[in-house]
Amino acid sequence: MEPGNRARVEAWLRYGSDLGLGPYYRDRAVPETAVMATPGAGVESLDQPSQAMAAAAGQTDAGSTLAFSQPPVSPAASVSLRSSPAVSLAQEPSLFEASDRIEGDTLGLIRETIGDCTRCKLHKGRTNIVFGVGSMKAQLVFVGEGPGRDEDIKGEPFVGRAGKLLTQMIEAMGLRREDVYICNVVKCRPPENRLPEKDEITTCSPFLFRQIDVIRPKVICCLGSCASQTLLQTTQGISRFRGEWFDFRGSKLIATYHPAYLLRNPNAKGEVWKDLQKVMAVLGLQPKRK
Ligand code: URA
Repeated sequence: MEPGNRARVEAWLRYGSDLGLGPYYRDRAVPETAVMATPGAGVESLDQPSQAMAAAAGQTDAGSTLAFSQPPVSPAASVSLRSSPAVSLAQEPSLFEASDRIEGDTLGLIRETIGDCTRCKLHKGRTNIVFGVGSMKAQLVFVGEGPGRDEDIKGEPFVGRAGKLLTQMIEAMGLRREDVYICNVVKCRPPENRLPEKDEITTCSPFLFRQIDVIRPKVICCLGSCASQTLLQTTQGISRFRGEWFDFRGSKLIATYHPAYLLRNPNAKGEVWKDLQKVMAVLGLQPKRK
């Protein structure tokens, strides 16, 4: 078969496999049961953003757990790109990765294409589509899971409690919110802040890929399991690969814990700060002076 056609057929088969059709490619990901059995699985279950977001939404105290004070600079911060991560992630491009970039695409065009979207069931409960915010020239893109209640009302990502913490994290890196681009895997709020479902992610994520293609950031920072598993095409828990560098369509990609998880587990802030320091090293940033 001609190599181009073969790649496309393979991409379609993988796409079917991702949708749960057929028993192909059993070797692509560690089975869920294996992930659950690994040490650290408890951490991952806490990091299920639906639980974390629900908890964050239910908390009104904006006290000490919200502050993202910079733990000491870690010698572990590094710019090196790991070529062989210790986890088995997809080795080949997905259908979306295999597809060509859209010539002349813009954020405006993508938003226009989304329109008053009814492509998936999430549209039924939304107030606003939460497209994304920030600089189209951003060197750093943060990808979250999906809008919560505050975001749904405002039409802007990460404006609730977790969002305030994200803003503090960005500022601790010596950046302003408007210097980066912030978006989500799904653009409509899942009911009760549940996890986005597979069909919703499959329907919505091509718009995220287009956003990333247009911005072409140097670094993509995935916040939490949903974003990292979607972009890296893995079912493995985030604690298995957070802080590692990956390639994603010409950008460097790193996964770290979701800010909503940090609201519940402030002890994990040190780990996240280490990850952010790696990003800063790649971008040549100095931490903000206190
Ligand atoms: N959590 C997310 O993942 N995204 C948001 O926009 C807000 C909270």
